[in-house]
Amino acid sequence: MPPSSQQDAVAPPPWYALQPDEVLERVQSSPEGLTSTEAARRLQAHGRNELPAPRRQHPVMRFLSQFNNALIYFMVSAAVIAFFLDHAVDSAVIFAVVLINAIVGYIQEGKAEQALEAIRNMMVPQVTVLRDGHRRHLEVGELVPGDVIVLEAGDSVPADARLLRARQLSCEEAILTGESVPSQKQEQAVAEDADLGDRHCMLYSGTIVAAGQGRAVVVETGSATEIGRISSMISKVETLETPLLQQINHFGRLFTWFALSLALGLLAFARLVHDYDWIDAFMVVVAISVGLVPEGLPAVITITLAIGVQRMARRNAIIRRLPAVETLGATSVICSDKTGTLTRNEMTVRRMVAGKAHYLVEGTGYVPEGEIKPQDDAPDQGWEDLVRAGLLCNDAKLEAQSGQWHTLGDPMEGALVALAMKAGKDVAQERDAWRRLDEIPFDSKHKFMATLHHHEGHGTWIFVKGAPESVLEKCGYPDHEYWMERISEAAQQGERVLGFAAKRCEDGKQHLEFNDVGDGLEFLGIMGFIDPPREEVLDAIASCRSAGVKVKMITGDHAATAQAIAKQLHLADEPGVMTGAELDKVPDEELSAVLANTSVFARTTPEHKLRIVKALQQQGEVVAMTGDGVNDAPSLKQADVGIAMGRKGTEAAKQASEMVLADDNFATIVAAVHAGRTVYDNVRKVIAWTLPTNGGEALAVVIALLLGMALPMTPAQILWINMVLTVTLGLVLAFEPAEPDVMERPPRPRNAALLSPFLLWRVGFVSVLFTIGVFVIFEYAMQRELGEEVARTMVVNTLVVLEIFYLFNVRYLNAKSFSWRGLVGTPILLVALAVVIVAQLAFTYTAPLHALFASAPIDWRDGLVIILIGIVFMLVLEFEKMLMRKRGKTNVLAES
Ligand code: ADP
Ligand code: MG
Repeated sequence: MPPSSQQDAVAPPPWYALQPDEVLERVQSSPEGLTSTEAARRLQAHGRNELPAPRRQHPVMRFLSQFNNALIYFMVSAAVIAFFLDHAVDSAVIFAVVLINAIVGYIQEGKAEQALEAIRNMMVPQVTVLRDGHRRHLEVGELVPGDVIVLEAGDSVPADARLLRARQLSCEEAILTGESVPSQKQEQAVAEDADLGDRHCMLYSGTIVAAGQGRAVVVETGSATEIGRISSMISKVETLETPLLQQINHFGRLFTWFALSLALGLLAFARLVHDYDWIDAFMVVVAISVGLVPEGLPAVITITLAIGVQRMARRNAIIRRLPAVETLGATSVICSDKTGTLTRNEMTVRRMVAGKAHYLVEGTGYVPEGEIKPQDDAPDQGWEDLVRAGLLCNDAKLEAQSGQWHTLGDPMEGALVALAMKAGKDVAQERDAWRRLDEIPFDSKHKFMATLHHHEGHGTWIFVKGAPESVLEKCGYPDHEYWMERISEAAQQGERVLGFAAKRCEDGKQHLEFNDVGDGLEFLGIMGFIDPPREEVLDAIASCRSAGVKVKMITGDHAATAQAIAKQLHLADEPGVMTGAELDKVPDEELSAVLANTSVFARTTPEHKLRIVKALQQQGEVVAMTGDGVNDAPSLKQADVGIAMGRKGTEAAKQASEMVLADDNFATIVAAVHAGRTVYDNVRKVIAWTLPTNGGEALAVVIALLLGMALPMTPAQILWINMVLTVTLGLVLAFEPAEPDVMERPPRPRNAALLSPFLLWRVGFVSVLFTIGVFVIFEYAMQRELGEEVARTMVVNTLVVLEIFYLFNVRYLNAKSFSWRGLVGTPILLVALAVVIVAQLAFTYTAPLHALFASAPIDWRDGLVIILIGIVFMLVLEFEKMLMRKRGKTNVLAES
């Protein structure tokens, strides 16, 4: 018997078989949690609550993987063969190019990965924990065994923990058990042999709280947790592949094979028809193949995407899944929450109606100063019960930091605390005197919150607050018409309305259940809150409208409130409104017509969101959808771009989303769409710019071969052009700022091909121009009997000059490039230009490069001829662009 079984025999029972107090004793903690000194000591002893970072590929392996593609195999074999055919210099150049290509690819990949890594680190999850008897927010990494954590719906469980208290708590544990139905949780210990899925008193790291609230004591952290033990599962690193890159890589592979077969065909042709000798014919084949294949393209596109991600991060839009960068650019509908996204989520109580008495409240923000003014002949202090209910059925706190008041917790609840202070209440004393026994937390599904309190003098009471309709319903609709009028009065002003109710219970009651608030409640009144729209959202919505992106507001709020805010924001000329209840009555067949006319959906539940996204997608829309709660996860997953709120969003929502808004701001979504469109434009520019070089080179070589002429370029020279240009000038396009009209054209269709007919035309047209340029200069040099070496050097320089001019042209795919902005370019463009020019001078005038590339010095007058060709070429290109614009193809990017 192995010695360990002996230890097993005396091993203590597992956490889930112990009662809460036994667990607390064993981890030496208490229901109030640890002190911060003790926590610091334990952090030293146990280490941070983190799983070891997923194992990265070894740098050497990552470098070697750069060589793993068909083209490289081909180039390497070509180099080997060239070496044995006595072309040692060509062979060396090809080797060098392969090496440089791998180094550049390695560095660029590393940069792109670093960029994404940095962004991932911007989203450190937080946890609410009791330390020194107070609630504190900590990074989950700082949790230690013995910490008491407080969790609610939507939180992700940060460590393995034993429940101390559970309220309607259930957890989604699919990550551990594969079971997608949430598992119900409770405090009682379970049998020692219970399966993981049956340990109802345990919370496991990495699972998600699906509903309810709970308190638990941490028992295991870091790699000691269940998830830590199977950590291979989570160590999968996200790759840099996106649909676009896949498309390009696929296309690249096809292209390589195409180039190879074409080259072999030509080899046969050269041997049979023109009687080239083997060595020359072979070098031609190599030239064509390396000329045709855009070696640097995938790397440059990866960088373009990574730059897009960084630009978005700078604007507070954090991309969680790389494909979203592309999808954002195609977004055609944005479905947004109202509160906090379109509005500031800084609430202030403006109006109170208690019974028949009406009050207006002064003051702004959370500053607890302002008078409560009775309207008409309302009695002074007639609001007493209403204000108390607001203060007690409430989890928020107000805090003054250097004269600034802000709220910890829900903004609306913060406003209620400010109101109580305006009413002269001592918040702490009032909350102590009315001890809270239990609660039913707010949920956007049932739209109310209830608390149970005991007061020495007044006895035991339930207080309820929530959407006024649902509270009125629980009270049996007293004075129905009167209250409906009061509610709509407030809502039409854009106020968010809450209803309040109370009920006396028998003393000794300790627990609050749903049926306790089912009836017998007394309606106390309503309050109206103002929540001003965010100023920057007005512009953002205007820019969406000009960009053909529809905006729909989907809110849990009252229809009239939502409509009033929609009007203030100019969401649509006449924003049509529909409530969730009305939406339920719309049959599927009529849904698309309804969606077209409705821009505000009010009093919705998360299920409505899901139905709306699906219906929009069926119409071919690309939908971005915001969400914050755990119930929003399905619609966030369904949306093409699920967008979670960084501040008020739950972990569940974040995990289901493609993007997180660090500032919860609608304007940030629009900025991300803008950046997404720019990225896509730039990818297309990179392609439109790169491919004609390859096309021109290959075409020139093929024609020379067919005509039995001397080759205008050697393979080594072709490689020189491809490498020097793509990694310098090509990269410039990755950094291109947005064209001025990015937000003035309609979104690109969902399935728009990357190489649209327009782009194909442009690539073909420019390739032909390049070929013409090559032959013109080659013939010119040959006529003047400058010799093959000079002629080829002139060809290489001509191609580079043409590429430079073409770069200026392509920076604006359809607008004219002869503008100040177009000619001056970006700083990075100028740097790249300088590099290319220096490289070309070295190529033309230095001995070592002469030896490597068989180049030769050019007379300056011939240099002028080359530049002249470039200028003519630029004029032709701009003329083509003008014709395109005239023919109404101004929208070339959107065209599919
Ligand atoms: P949204 O965030 O889209 O405005 P919610 O689903 O958060 O909508 O809220 C819907 C309604 O529920 C609100 O209009 C309000 O009447 C009520 N409500 C919101 N928060 C609370 C809360 N903390 N307690 C009680 N009722 C609330
Ligand atoms: Mg809300």
